[in-house]
Amino acid sequence: MNRSDILIIGAGPVGLFTVFEAGLLKLKCHIVDSLAQPGGQLNEIYPKKPIYDIPGYPSILASDLTTNLLEQIAPFKPTFTMGERAESLTKVEDNLYRVTTNKGTELYAPVVAIAGGLGSFEPRKPPIENIAQYEDIGIDYIIRDPEKYRNKRVVIAGGGDSALDWSIILSDIAAEVVMIHRRTSFRGALDSVEKVMHLAENGKIQLITNAQAVGLGGEGKLEFVAIEEDGKPTYPHKTDYFLPLFGLAPKLGPIADWGLDIEDNAVKVDTFDYSTNLRGVYAIGDVNTYPGKLKLILCGFHEATLMVQSAFKHIYPEQKLSFKYTTVAGVNGF
Ligand SMILES: Cc1cc2nc3c(=O)[nH]c(=O)nc-3n(C[C@H](O)[C@H](O)[C@H](O)COP(=O)(O)OP(=O)(O)OC[C@H]3O[C@@H](n4cnc5c(N)ncnc54)[C@H](O)[C@@H]3O)c2cc1C
Repeated sequence: MNRSDILIIGAGPVGLFTVFEAGLLKLKCHIVDSLAQPGGQLNEIYPKKPIYDIPGYPSILASDLTTNLLEQIAPFKPTFTMGERAESLTKVEDNLYRVTTNKGTELYAPVVAIAGGLGSFEPRKPPIENIAQYEDIGIDYIIRDPEKYRNKRVVIAGGGDSALDWSIILSDIAAEVVMIHRRTSFRGALDSVEKVMHLAENGKIQLITNAQAVGLGGEGKLEFVAIEEDGKPTYPHKTDYFLPLFGLAPKLGPIADWGLDIEDNAVKVDTFDYSTNLRGVYAIGDVNTYPGKLKLILCGFHEATLMVQSAFKHIYPEQKLSFKYTTVAGVNGF
């Protein structure tokens, strides 16, 4: 029987870091993830993008952060069930849950930590009639490796962080970057908006606002995007790639049917310990919601840290938990 102290659903950054914090309390973790590789959004959506707001790292590539987290948790010997989706949650005893995967694997633990992030990744697609025809032959909704676009012409659509960030990064790599956005104002970080404006002034990005892509064409591969600007007649713009970056539609998947309090596609938690309405079940990282919630890796790490303290008391109500610094006790001294 696969039994751990904490069963973590999701091997994103928050799920991985939970193993570390739990390990310090000598709690054993098992992780299940529907993806084949750990890392969650970091490896699935933006592995080659630098992250700038991880304390102590002025800049770190998303995939490197995953590698570091795996190294950091290795001493605690977590076990993994990868490539299987947690499908159902059942309380089998007073202090024991069973999670069953889509492949029938049964995982048992007194504590379940849901770190399911956005759930399954569903990109928001623009309503262009023949868009499916060009997927993978000129249209990408997720940029995994910017090198793919080296010396190519790209048209990026969107007005949020993803569109802004990739326009900035690709302006150094692609032969041509055209950014089209429906409005004149952007939803992304002010700093990124300023950078894009600056690059546009210097001719490194062609910025077209009050515009949208309304058609696509090409023989066997994408060759042009039809752009409608300011209500003027549509014109074709030659390109190698069209990158509609409108974000991901959150889909909680099976987690939504487990009897948890759900609000706006996220699990409601008590910020005291990130517990849900089901005793022994916690939700941390992007998957949870509470007043003031920020979907940041840093916040997920904090939530995981507080959560394991509560999990320990739930598993061992009689035992006293004494708090120690890692600088004093080391990693194996706990
Ligand atoms: C383009 C982009 C740039 C970003 N930049 C930054 C940044 O600079 N700084 C920052 O702090 N944050 C950034 N973020 C946000 C950051 O990536 C998320 O906050 C973070 O990934 C959340 O981690 P998580 O572990 O909670 O969830 P995720 O990374 O989403 O991982 C969740 C995992 O759970 C798995 N899962 C879900 N449901 C199930 C199930 N039923 N069974 C099994 N597995 C399941 C998924 O497969 C996934 O692997 C960015 C996000 C994007 C998209």
